[in-house]
Amino acid sequence: MTIRDSELHPIDEGIALLFNAPASFTGENVLEFQGHGGQAVLQGIVGHALHVARQLEIPLRHALPGEFTQRAFLNDKLDLAQAEAVADLIDAGSVSAAKAAAASLSGVFSRQVNALADRIVHLRLLLEATLDFPEEEIEFLEKADAKGQLNQILAIHQDLLSAAREGVKFRDGLQIVLVGEPNVGKSSLLNALAGEEVAIVSAIAGTTRDRIKQELNIRGIPLVLVDTAGLRHTADEVEKIGIERTRKSVEEADLVLILKDATLEQPDFFDDHLKLPAHLPSLTVLNKVDLLPESVQSRQDLHNAVCISAKKGIGLENLKDAILAKVGIAHPPDHGFMARQRHVDALHLCGEHLASAFQFALQDDRTLDLFAEELRLAHDALGEITGRMLPDDLLGLIFSRFCIGK
Ligand code: GDP
Ligand code: ZN
Repeated sequence: MTIRDSELHPIDEGIALLFNAPASFTGENVLEFQGHGGQAVLQGIVGHALHVARQLEIPLRHALPGEFTQRAFLNDKLDLAQAEAVADLIDAGSVSAAKAAAASLSGVFSRQVNALADRIVHLRLLLEATLDFPEEEIEFLEKADAKGQLNQILAIHQDLLSAAREGVKFRDGLQIVLVGEPNVGKSSLLNALAGEEVAIVSAIAGTTRDRIKQELNIRGIPLVLVDTAGLRHTADEVEKIGIERTRKSVEEADLVLILKDATLEQPDFFDDHLKLPAHLPSLTVLNKVDLLPESVQSRQDLHNAVCISAKKGIGLENLKDAILAKVGIAHPPDHGFMARQRHVDALHLCGEHLASAFQFALQDDRTLDLFAEELRLAHDALGEITGRMLPDDLLGLIFSRFCIGK
């Protein structure tokens, strides 16, 4: 059809598509115009639509960011985790991340959350039924194996929590920090993994004074590798700033790679001056194995360290596997789903209430109310993920981060 502006001059040849409720994306009646793009044509189409709507007294206005997806959510076409996956799919930085987001959009994550919620509901119903019989509650619950059911719920919750943690990594990527004395080959390793020259490689110790970030992909997992200034105890002001930055990136990291020169005896990198946080996984890597005697060169590891040569490209695939194993990515990317920190936090909260529920379960009659209450709170926490239990202002915040037109 010919699209005309408000003075009825033709501005484009396009099509109009009517999607009838409830089968549209939002669940509402949707009229979609497709033109040839370009700012002028699009503004002409939108301007004319607004003009016509005013004349007909139809309250037409521009959509807010994320409004289409928000309407789909409000009309029960998607739950909140799926709606968030729409934005994550758009932002996906790798094919694997996109696949993971698509899995969440199709409901892979939500179904597992709902399955867990169903089990909790089942146990809550059992408990409510018991509370109606004032006598012999405990025996009744023991017969129904309430504790066994709760154990199963806890196990399912654990699996889902670790899968969601992996899902967050698909979305946010991993922060890996590379530390080591000057000249051990940090910049060279960064280059070797990135496949391009990003850091300055030099034979003069202490060249990399600024930390340099490089985004890369290991088996589809997006990650940011940070090359730090070599840590040295020095009075040099610039070096001091570098050391401070090293400390900061280490604190933010998911994994620390401690690089050593395989040909040198080197003291432990982390000492009193720079502590490796206790919770942080680290991997020791011996570089320059190409300079070692031939007999040891082919070894994949020595003294619990992964052996590589950044310069000759030896052992890099093995290093990638070791990195993923260390950060606890067990599932091949194609089988995962994408999640957000918000989801992990909600699952964590759910787990805390389940743990308290377990404490109260079957102690004696007086704690049964507390048992029931903790189960209810655990159930509500899951509701935050799918949006069943989320305050409106938080909902607004989530959708406001979407881009316009989605
Ligand atoms: P950084 O200070 O830790 O970033 O170290 P660089 O990456 O700048 O490397 C310091 C020197 O070691 C350079 O001359 C590199 O060419 C050399 N080098 C790095 N990796 C290897 C390796 O695997 N084998 C050998 N033989 N030399 C390497
Ligand atoms: Zn360097």
